[in-house]
Amino acid sequence: MIIPINTYSDPVLALKAKPLRGIDPSVEELIGNMFESMRNASGIGLAAPQIGSSIRLLVIDISCMDSYKDAKPMVVINPRILAVKGRNVMEEGCLSVPGVMGDVSRPSAINLHYRDEHFEEHTAEFTGMIARVLQHEIDHLDGTLFVDRMEKRDRRSIQKELDAITDGLVRAEYPLARDAVVGAKR
Ligand code: ZN
Repeated sequence: MIIPINTYSDPVLALKAKPLRGIDPSVEELIGNMFESMRNASGIGLAAPQIGSSIRLLVIDISCMDSYKDAKPMVVINPRILAVKGRNVMEEGCLSVPGVMGDVSRPSAINLHYRDEHFEEHTAEFTGMIARVLQHEIDHLDGTLFVDRMEKRDRRSIQKELDAITDGLVRAEYPLARDAVVGAKR
């Protein structure tokens, strides 16, 4: 089922999400809905809070990008970044901030502990695009959006667009959670 996406200034996006204790049918259904909603919106990553579930779960699928055709879809539960290396700047966007792009500086490699869709534990190093998307999605679990990590001057230059999203004036080619509290204070 395609779930509408929560957008900038919706309170659920500012919460610290709760860890999952295990997998049950409702979590499996949520994971399916997340992949469906993400692909419907042509996204490469989605965190559960973006569709209104404040839990530490995210999905990634970058195989739609030309250079990553062989990349496998990933389910990441209760992620914990153990170590980081390097740093680079890349332009990011977000399904929750429709129509806005901006440069964000992040570590270029991460060592991550997480559980998969079977609740099996993994510790692995990620680099490149996957490391970038993982960090963006993990931020969502801590109530942080990529615009919060932009340089102050860049951030000021997009404030009008952000205000328009808050005011409910922005449409996207995928369903947005229009029942969200329009104009809610962050
Ligand atoms: Zn995002």
